[in-house]
Amino acid sequence: MKLANTAALVTGAGQGIGQAIALQLAAEGADIALNVRADDERARAVRDEIVALGRRCTIYPADVSRVAGTRAMVQQAGADFPQLCILVNNAGVERHAPLLEVSEDDYDLVLDVNLKGPFFLIQHFARWLRAAGRPGRIVNISSVHEELPFPNFAPYCASKGGLKMLMRDAAVELAPFGITVNNVAPGAIRTPINDALLANEAQLKALTAQIPLGRLGTPPDVAKLVAFLASEDARYITGTTSVVDGGLLWNYTEQ
Ligand code: NAD
Repeated sequence: MKLANTAALVTGAGQGIGQAIALQLAAEGADIALNVRADDERARAVRDEIVALGRRCTIYPADVSRVAGTRAMVQQAGADFPQLCILVNNAGVERHAPLLEVSEDDYDLVLDVNLKGPFFLIQHFARWLRAAGRPGRIVNISSVHEELPFPNFAPYCASKGGLKMLMRDAAVELAPFGITVNNVAPGAIRTPINDALLANEAQLKALTAQIPLGRLGTPPDVAKLVAFLASEDARYITGTTSVVDGGLLWNYTEQ
């Protein structure tokens, strides 16, 4: 198993892409520190699935946008899983509004969860690894919208574009510690974040027509790429974005 004797902290892992990542990393041998907003039934169901795979899993409820909370979470996860060496910044939110209508609250929410959260988690995690004298892997779930404009989602695009440059900078600064940092940029994936789109047949059809591989992605499509980037096989890859979008990015025009 590619990830035997490792442990991974995955944020926003109670559903969607984060859940699939936690399960994929566990299937490949990693114990899982499962970050969720709340320790609820859904989170415990994910934990039970991971335990059924023969791995250890502990739930860490924390809001990724709160720096003191994520610092404590990394410390606790490191104490519980001394082989911790993988961080996946997956938690994310989006809010729909034309640029002219975006409220300060929505701007703050999206930037705090999608950019400030990963920024300080990278900092806490890299400090922990440096203190432990160990190398590591950081994978951020960004989006094709780290490149592609997305009208009516300006804060989301700003957060993912920022995450692209954060990743590039962190890759350079953390390379001396043996820590790689990469982004995974999904296209349109079937998860709850896209509930409105999935319920709109006409919009879904128009979008699917623009995806060369002819379908939306699934969470495991993304998770398999993350597992590769987290593994020893990806040892010479840092500072890059890998796109997983069925070909959407360079074939897409806004309708
Ligand atoms: P989702 O809404 O199903 O999952 C997002 C997760 O983040 C949820 O579990 C939620 O509880 C968690 N979260 C939100 N705010 C949080 C906070 N403050 N602290 C901790 N956790 C928090 O959506 P998803 O599609 O699985 O999204 C996962 C990531 O993938 C996000 O970063 C998103 O931007 C990115 N992404 C998704 C798509 C897509 O089409 N689904 C495309 C590109 C990028």
